[in-house]
Amino acid sequence: MRAIVTSSAGLTVTSLLELAVALLSGSVALLADALHNLGDVFTTVGIYFGFRMSRRVATTRFPYGYGRSEDLAGVVVVAAIWISAGVAFYQSYEKLVSGTPTTDLTLGMAAAVIGIVGNQIVARYKSRVGREINSAPLIVDAKHSLLDSAASAGALVGLVGVALGFPQADPIAGFAIGLLIVHIGIDATRDVADRLMDANDIDVTKAAERLAIAVPGVEAVGDVRARWLGREVEVRLAITLAPHLALSDASAICSQVERRVRSDLPEVRDVVVLCRSRGTAIALV
Ligand SMILES: [Zn+2]
Repeated sequence: MRAIVTSSAGLTVTSLLELAVALLSGSVALLADALHNLGDVFTTVGIYFGFRMSRRVATTRFPYGYGRSEDLAGVVVVAAIWISAGVAFYQSYEKLVSGTPTTDLTLGMAAAVIGIVGNQIVARYKSRVGREINSAPLIVDAKHSLLDSAASAGALVGLVGVALGFPQADPIAGFAIGLLIVHIGIDATRDVADRLMDANDIDVTKAAERLAIAVPGVEAVGDVRARWLGREVEVRLAITLAPHLALSDASAICSQVERRVRSDLPEVRDVVVLCRSRGTAIALV
Protein backbone atom coordinates (compact mmCIF):
# COMPACT_ATOMS: atom_id res chain seq x y z
CA MET A 1 0.00 0.00 0.00
CA ARG A 2 2.87 2.34 0.81
CA ALA A 3 4.45 1.57 -2.58
CA ILE A 4 1.20 2.59 -4.28
CA VAL A 5 0.83 5.84 -2.32
CA THR A 6 4.52 6.83 -2.73
CA SER A 7 4.66 6.19 -6.46
CA SER A 8 1.30 7.92 -7.02
CA ALA A 9 2.52 11.03 -5.21
CA GLY A 10 5.71 11.07 -7.32
CA LEU A 11 3.76 10.54 -10.52
CA THR A 12 1.22 13.27 -9.63
CA VAL A 13 4.01 15.85 -9.24
CA THR A 14 5.62 14.68 -12.52
CA SER A 15 2.39 14.87 -14.52
CA LEU A 16 1.28 18.24 -13.11
CA LEU A 17 4.72 19.68 -14.04
CA GLU A 18 4.36 18.23 -17.53
CA LEU A 19 0.82 19.58 -17.83
CA ALA A 20 1.90 23.11 -16.83
CA VAL A 21 4.75 23.11 -19.36
CA ALA A 22 2.47 21.57 -22.03
CA LEU A 23 -0.03 24.45 -21.65
CA LEU A 24 2.80 27.02 -21.66
CA SER A 25 4.63 25.66 -24.71
CA GLY A 26 1.63 24.40 -26.69
CA SER A 27 3.27 20.98 -27.10
CA VAL A 28 0.52 18.41 -27.72
CA ALA A 29 2.94 15.50 -27.22
CA LEU A 30 3.67 16.73 -23.70
CA LEU A 31 -0.06 17.25 -23.16
CA ALA A 32 -0.81 13.67 -24.25
CA ASP A 33 1.96 12.35 -22.01
CA ALA A 34 0.76 14.41 -19.03
CA LEU A 35 -2.85 13.24 -19.56
CA HIS A 36 -1.68 9.65 -19.76
CA ASN A 37 0.36 9.95 -16.55
CA LEU A 38 -2.57 11.62 -14.78
CA GLY A 39 -4.76 8.77 -16.02
CA ASP A 40 -2.36 6.30 -14.41
CA VAL A 41 -2.57 8.14 -11.08
CA PHE A 42 -6.36 8.18 -11.39
CA THR A 43 -6.33 4.41 -12.07
CA THR A 44 -4.24 3.74 -8.98
CA VAL A 45 -6.46 5.94 -6.79
CA GLY A 46 -9.58 4.23 -8.20
CA ILE A 47 -8.17 0.77 -7.50
CA TYR A 48 -7.13 1.88 -4.00
CA PHE A 49 -10.62 3.13 -3.06
CA GLY A 50 -12.27 0.14 -4.74
CA PHE A 51 -10.00 -2.16 -2.74
CA ARG A 52 -10.80 -0.42 0.56
CA MET A 53 -14.53 -0.50 -0.11
CA SER A 54 -14.44 -4.14 -1.25
CA ARG A 55 -13.29 -5.21 2.22
CA ARG A 56 -16.50 -3.98 3.86
CA VAL A 57 -18.72 -6.75 5.21
CA ALA A 58 -21.99 -7.73 3.54
CA THR A 59 -25.15 -5.93 4.60
CA THR A 60 -28.88 -6.62 4.22
CA ARG A 61 -28.93 -4.35 1.18
CA PHE A 62 -25.75 -5.87 -0.34
CA PRO A 63 -25.86 -9.50 0.81
CA TYR A 64 -23.15 -10.51 -1.72
CA GLY A 65 -20.68 -8.07 -0.13
CA TYR A 66 -18.83 -5.13 -1.65
CA GLY A 67 -16.40 -7.08 -3.85
CA ARG A 68 -17.90 -5.61 -7.02
CA SER A 69 -17.01 -2.04 -5.96
CA GLU A 70 -13.56 -2.70 -7.44
CA ASP A 71 -15.15 -3.54 -10.79
CA LEU A 72 -17.29 -0.40 -10.50
CA ALA A 73 -14.11 1.65 -9.99
CA GLY A 74 -12.75 -0.10 -13.10
CA VAL A 75 -15.62 1.27 -15.22
CA VAL A 76 -14.80 4.85 -14.15
CA VAL A 77 -11.10 4.31 -14.81
CA VAL A 78 -11.76 2.89 -18.30
CA ALA A 79 -13.95 5.90 -19.14
CA ALA A 80 -11.15 8.26 -18.03
CA ILE A 81 -8.60 6.42 -20.22
CA TRP A 82 -10.80 6.75 -23.34
CA ILE A 83 -11.52 10.42 -22.66
CA SER A 84 -7.78 11.17 -22.31
CA ALA A 85 -7.09 9.30 -25.58
CA GLY A 86 -9.80 11.38 -27.27
CA VAL A 87 -8.33 14.65 -25.97
CA ALA A 88 -4.80 13.63 -27.07
CA PHE A 89 -5.98 12.80 -30.62
CA TYR A 90 -8.18 15.88 -30.97
CA GLN A 91 -5.47 18.27 -29.78
CA SER A 92 -2.84 16.63 -32.02
CA TYR A 93 -5.15 16.81 -35.05
CA GLU A 94 -6.04 20.44 -34.29
CA LYS A 95 -2.37 21.38 -34.04
CA LEU A 96 -1.39 19.50 -37.21
CA VAL A 97 -4.13 21.29 -39.18
CA SER A 98 -3.69 24.78 -37.70
CA GLY A 99 0.12 24.68 -37.55
CA THR A 100 0.23 26.46 -34.16
CA PRO A 101 3.92 26.80 -33.24
CA THR A 102 5.54 25.08 -30.25
CA THR A 103 7.36 27.55 -27.96
CA ASP A 104 9.64 27.21 -24.91
CA LEU A 105 11.36 24.17 -26.44
CA THR A 106 14.11 23.92 -23.80
CA LEU A 107 11.57 23.98 -20.98
CA GLY A 108 9.45 21.41 -22.84
CA MET A 109 12.44 19.09 -23.28
CA ALA A 110 13.26 19.46 -19.58
CA ALA A 111 9.67 18.47 -18.70
CA ALA A 112 9.89 15.42 -21.01
CA VAL A 113 13.17 14.42 -19.33
CA ILE A 114 11.46 14.75 -15.92
CA GLY A 115 8.71 12.44 -17.31
CA ILE A 116 11.33 9.88 -18.42
CA VAL A 117 13.28 10.00 -15.14
CA GLY A 118 10.16 10.12 -12.93
CA ASN A 119 8.66 7.03 -14.58
CA GLN A 120 12.00 5.20 -14.47
CA ILE A 121 12.29 5.85 -10.71
CA VAL A 122 8.67 4.73 -10.14
CA ALA A 123 9.26 1.62 -12.32
CA ARG A 124 12.36 0.60 -10.37
CA TYR A 125 10.68 1.26 -7.01
CA LYS A 126 7.55 -0.77 -7.92
CA SER A 127 9.61 -3.62 -9.34
CA ARG A 128 11.83 -3.79 -6.19
CA VAL A 129 8.86 -3.75 -3.77
CA GLY A 130 6.90 -6.10 -6.08
CA ARG A 131 9.70 -8.68 -5.94
CA GLU A 132 10.11 -8.23 -2.16
CA ILE A 133 6.44 -8.88 -1.33
CA ASN A 134 5.98 -11.19 -4.35
CA SER A 135 3.11 -9.18 -5.81
CA ALA A 136 2.37 -9.99 -9.46
CA PRO A 137 0.18 -6.89 -10.04
CA LEU A 138 2.92 -4.59 -8.75
CA ILE A 139 5.53 -6.21 -11.05
CA VAL A 140 3.15 -5.82 -14.01
CA ASP A 141 2.58 -2.21 -12.99
CA ALA A 142 6.36 -1.66 -12.93
CA LYS A 143 6.55 -2.80 -16.56
CA HIS A 144 3.75 -0.36 -17.38
CA SER A 145 5.80 2.47 -15.82
CA LEU A 146 8.75 1.51 -18.05
CA LEU A 147 6.44 1.85 -21.07
CA ASP A 148 5.37 5.26 -19.72
CA SER A 149 8.99 6.28 -19.61
CA ALA A 150 9.18 5.38 -23.31
CA ALA A 151 6.10 7.57 -23.97
CA SER A 152 7.84 10.55 -22.34
CA ALA A 153 10.88 9.77 -24.51
CA GLY A 154 8.52 9.98 -27.52
CA ALA A 155 7.47 13.48 -26.44
CA LEU A 156 11.16 14.40 -26.14
CA VAL A 157 11.89 13.10 -29.65
CA GLY A 158 8.99 15.22 -30.97
CA LEU A 159 10.36 18.37 -29.33
CA VAL A 160 13.89 17.67 -30.62
CA GLY A 161 12.31 17.30 -34.07
CA VAL A 162 10.66 20.73 -33.72
CA ALA A 163 14.01 22.25 -32.64
CA LEU A 164 15.63 20.75 -35.75
CA GLY A 165 13.08 22.56 -37.94
CA PHE A 166 10.33 19.96 -38.30
CA PRO A 167 7.25 21.52 -36.57
CA GLN A 168 4.94 18.55 -37.31
CA ALA A 169 7.13 16.31 -35.12
CA ASP A 170 5.21 17.45 -32.01
CA PRO A 171 1.67 16.56 -33.18
CA ILE A 172 2.99 13.29 -34.69
CA ALA A 173 4.49 12.39 -31.30
CA GLY A 174 1.11 13.38 -29.78
CA PHE A 175 -0.66 10.87 -32.09
CA ALA A 176 1.85 8.14 -31.18
CA ILE A 177 1.26 8.67 -27.46
CA GLY A 178 -2.51 8.71 -28.16
CA LEU A 179 -2.12 5.26 -29.77
CA LEU A 180 -0.33 4.03 -26.63
CA ILE A 181 -3.27 5.27 -24.53
CA VAL A 182 -5.68 3.42 -26.86
CA HIS A 183 -3.63 0.23 -26.44
CA ILE A 184 -3.85 0.54 -22.64
CA GLY A 185 -7.56 1.40 -22.95
CA ILE A 186 -8.30 -1.77 -24.94
CA ASP A 187 -6.54 -3.97 -22.34
CA ALA A 188 -8.29 -2.24 -19.43
CA THR A 189 -11.71 -2.43 -21.13
CA ARG A 190 -11.27 -6.14 -21.80
CA ASP A 191 -10.34 -6.81 -18.13
CA VAL A 192 -13.30 -4.85 -16.79
CA ALA A 193 -15.72 -6.38 -19.33
CA ASP A 194 -14.57 -9.90 -18.36
CA ARG A 195 -15.36 -9.15 -14.73
CA LEU A 196 -18.75 -7.64 -15.50
CA MET A 197 -19.64 -10.56 -17.80
CA ASP A 198 -18.71 -13.07 -15.05
CA ALA A 199 -16.02 -14.67 -17.21
CA ASN A 200 -15.10 -18.16 -16.01
CA ASP A 201 -11.72 -18.61 -14.28
CA ILE A 202 -10.51 -21.86 -15.87
CA ASP A 203 -7.66 -22.40 -13.36
CA VAL A 204 -10.05 -22.16 -10.41
CA THR A 205 -12.72 -24.39 -12.01
CA LYS A 206 -10.13 -27.09 -12.84
CA ALA A 207 -8.73 -27.01 -9.30
CA ALA A 208 -12.21 -27.10 -7.72
CA GLU A 209 -13.21 -30.03 -9.92
CA ARG A 210 -10.05 -31.96 -8.95
CA LEU A 211 -10.67 -31.32 -5.22
CA ALA A 212 -14.35 -32.30 -5.40
CA ILE A 213 -13.83 -35.57 -7.29
CA ALA A 214 -11.20 -36.62 -4.70
CA VAL A 215 -13.78 -36.54 -1.87
CA PRO A 216 -14.94 -40.13 -1.08
CA GLY A 217 -18.56 -40.68 -2.11
CA VAL A 218 -18.48 -38.22 -5.02
CA GLU A 219 -19.20 -40.07 -8.26
CA ALA A 220 -19.12 -37.18 -10.70
CA VAL A 221 -18.56 -33.41 -10.83
CA GLY A 222 -20.15 -31.11 -13.39
CA ASP A 223 -21.19 -27.57 -14.23
CA VAL A 224 -18.25 -25.98 -12.39
CA ARG A 225 -18.35 -22.17 -12.53
CA ALA A 226 -15.98 -19.60 -10.99
CA ARG A 227 -16.56 -15.87 -11.17
CA TRP A 228 -14.56 -13.04 -9.64
CA LEU A 229 -16.22 -10.46 -7.40
CA GLY A 230 -13.41 -7.97 -6.88
CA ARG A 231 -10.59 -9.89 -5.20
CA GLU A 232 -12.59 -12.97 -4.28
CA VAL A 233 -13.92 -15.89 -6.29
CA GLU A 234 -17.33 -17.47 -6.04
CA VAL A 235 -17.44 -21.13 -7.05
CA ARG A 236 -20.53 -23.14 -7.96
CA LEU A 237 -20.40 -26.83 -8.79
CA ALA A 238 -22.77 -29.80 -9.06
CA ILE A 239 -21.77 -33.20 -7.67
CA THR A 240 -23.39 -36.58 -8.15
CA LEU A 241 -23.44 -38.97 -5.19
CA ALA A 242 -23.93 -42.72 -5.00
CA PRO A 243 -27.62 -43.70 -4.80
CA HIS A 244 -29.37 -44.88 -1.60
CA LEU A 245 -27.19 -42.79 0.76
CA ALA A 246 -28.71 -41.66 4.05
CA LEU A 247 -29.53 -37.96 3.96
CA SER A 248 -27.05 -37.30 6.78
CA ASP A 249 -24.21 -39.06 4.87
CA ALA A 250 -25.03 -37.18 1.66
CA SER A 251 -25.07 -33.90 3.55
CA ALA A 252 -21.68 -34.70 5.14
CA ILE A 253 -20.12 -35.40 1.73
CA CYS A 254 -21.49 -32.13 0.31
CA SER A 255 -20.12 -30.18 3.28
CA GLN A 256 -16.73 -31.80 2.85
CA VAL A 257 -16.60 -30.76 -0.81
CA GLU A 258 -17.40 -27.20 0.22
CA ARG A 259 -14.74 -27.14 2.94
CA ARG A 260 -12.07 -28.67 0.66
CA VAL A 261 -12.61 -26.11 -2.09
CA ARG A 262 -12.70 -23.23 0.36
CA SER A 263 -9.58 -24.23 2.31
CA ASP A 264 -7.39 -25.33 -0.63
CA LEU A 265 -8.12 -22.30 -2.80
CA PRO A 266 -7.44 -19.18 -0.67
CA GLU A 267 -8.97 -16.76 -3.22
CA VAL A 268 -12.33 -18.57 -3.00
CA ARG A 269 -14.84 -16.96 -0.66
CA ASP A 270 -18.19 -18.49 -1.52
CA VAL A 271 -18.79 -22.10 -2.55
CA VAL A 272 -22.20 -23.32 -3.65
CA VAL A 273 -22.45 -27.11 -3.99
CA LEU A 274 -25.46 -28.62 -5.73
CA CYS A 275 -25.74 -32.25 -4.59
CA ARG A 276 -27.57 -34.81 -6.68
CA SER A 277 -28.15 -38.49 -6.37
CA ARG A 278 -28.47 -39.92 -9.88
CA GLY A 279 -30.26 -36.89 -11.27
CA THR A 280 -32.31 -35.94 -8.21
CA ALA A 281 -31.36 -32.79 -6.32
CA ILE A 282 -31.32 -33.71 -2.63
CA ALA A 283 -29.36 -31.02 -0.88
CA LEU A 284 -27.93 -27.57 -1.36
CA VAL A 285 -24.88 -26.61 0.70
ZN1 LIG B 1 0.83 4.55 -18.21
